[in-house]
Amino acid sequence: MDVQNRMNSVICSNERCKAPAHINEIKFVGGDNDKGGIIIKCSNCTNIFAVTVKNPDDASISKGEK
Ligand SMILES: [Zn+2]
Repeated sequence: MDVQNRMNSVICSNERCKAPAHINEIKFVGGDNDKGGIIIKCSNCTNIFAVTVKNPDDASISKGEK
């Protein structure tokens, strides 16, 4: 089964912050794709918010730092 990676850019839901975060979203081509949400904690203001993604179990969060 083919797998596609897609970088999803979101911004913090805190009106006064709006710091960007990146989610590595996985899509199974021709397979079952779950839909759900993951919880992100903003690295800038520590705000916690939910983002809708495909296959939340396989998604990973990149905060732009390694
Ligand atoms: Zn924030």
